Amino acid sequence: VQLFKVLVIGDLGVGKSSIVMRYVNKCFDERYKGTIGVDFALKSIEWDAKTVVRLQFWDIAGQERFKKMSRVYYKGTMGAIVVFDITNSCTLEAASEWKQDLDSKVCLDSGHLVPAVLLANKCDLTGRDGDVVSSLDSFCKDNSFLGWFETSAKDNINIEEAGAFLVKQMMLC
Ligand code: GDP
Ligand code: MG
Repeated sequence: VQLFKVLVIGDLGVGKSSIVMRYVNKCFDERYKGTIGVDFALKSIEWDAKTVVRLQFWDIAGQERFKKMSRVYYKGTMGAIVVFDITNSCTLEAASEWKQDLDSKVCLDSGHLVPAVLLANKCDLTGRDGDVVSSLDSFCKDNSFLGWFETSAKDNINIEEAGAFLVKQMMLC
């Protein structure tokens, strides 16, 4: 069994809790509000015949306005999901700050950066910004993300794919 601590960070309201809920519990609830502090969610994945991967998601709630977390919280992190709202470009700028905070406070034992994926969430909404999407390749490069996905926790788009991608990256580390 491989246990991975995965942080879910990004601005308030971008859909962090909804994404974790969708990925772990396979559902979406408009009324759902994460608890104040940190929410934990566990998901097990059969990686191969011999290995089960256990993902422990750390979903922040209430600390978002600071755009950073304490070192204690980052300790032992093996992967990160940084979320922004595709209809709100301010949250993409914030994603860069979140990523910088992550990289400045934690790295793998090997000294490498923690593998991180960027999620452009709420792609079901019509306000989706085409300019933002076309800039994501270079944004990822500039901010050392391994990849990005357009997701919708609501319509269940690319959530599984993004999870599988991150697991693969963590297994390679
Ligand atoms: P958090 O503050 O980052 O944890 O965000 P929440 O998961 O609490 O979501 C904030 C709001 O956005 C809630 O009203 C959710 O129902 C809504 N939301 C989350 N994901 C999506 C999505 O993919 N599409 C749409 N349309 N709304 C979403
Ligand atoms: Mg939340």
